[in-house]
Amino acid sequence: MKLFAVIFFLIVSLIYPQKVNFFGKQAPGNLMVGKTANISSVLLDGKNIPFDDGIFVFGFDRDDKGTHTIKIIFKNGAGKTKKFKLEKGNFKIEKINSAKKQFSSPPANELARIEHERKEMKNARRRVGKINSALFESGFERPVKGGKVTGVFGSQRILNGKPKSPHDGFDIAAPKGTPVYAMADGVVILAGKNFYYNGNFILIDHGLSLSSIYLHLNKMFVKNGDRVKKGEKIGEIGTTGRSTGPHLHWSVRWMKKRINPESVLKIGQF
Ligand SMILES: [Zn+2]
Repeated sequence: MKLFAVIFFLIVSLIYPQKVNFFGKQAPGNLMVGKTANISSVLLDGKNIPFDDGIFVFGFDRDDKGTHTIKIIFKNGAGKTKKFKLEKGNFKIEKINSAKKQFSSPPANELARIEHERKEMKNARRRVGKINSALFESGFERPVKGGKVTGVFGSQRILNGKPKSPHDGFDIAAPKGTPVYAMADGVVILAGKNFYYNGNFILIDHGLSLSSIYLHLNKMFVKNGDRVKKGEKIGEIGTTGRSTGPHLHWSVRWMKKRINPESVLKIGQF
């Protein structure tokens, strides 16, 4: 009977391997991917997060601090817990004292349009997170080949003592017409046309609440609901919306957390 129990346990552990591999860095603004098998549920700080069989993704916001806990419950009832102690965030803070305005406030006759677009964007963000499969499974890649990095994630300007909201994306300047590719497989949630701030832009849901957005495009080659592949040409670099020259503003989110796109590229394949 005892031998039977040992053999049974061995078989169970072979069927249900409980090794979990984590990809990514435990730091503010970083994305992480967990890979294992036979998941029954995953919790981040006690709250259920989406998973797809053996894959889950989570991330830390720019301003997240402290220690966070991932708990995985497997189909055989076993559990595994891992703690992530975040490094200190290291973001560029720029103090500017200038009488010059960076950008003038939008004119009064545009305010209604801006409000309408804000609501459309909010509704689009709400539609993200309904895909319970890891469409991003084949990994991540840079949406522009070459170009010049003109803005990094998390940087913040303090203008005349007043902190401005931190930059939530990664800016790549390149000539108008340069192709823009999807960073991973996904579904187009919104291909927005000529928004006051964003210009022409594409919001993609990559599954498990991971999304990316591409702003200021010249042309767009996809429409709402389209299924896209990693590396598929979705648009062209432009300077539509509130932009000072041809560049791509690329942002990534997991749930509502602002993720550094560079951390996504560092994961690459997993
Ligand atoms: Zn930007």
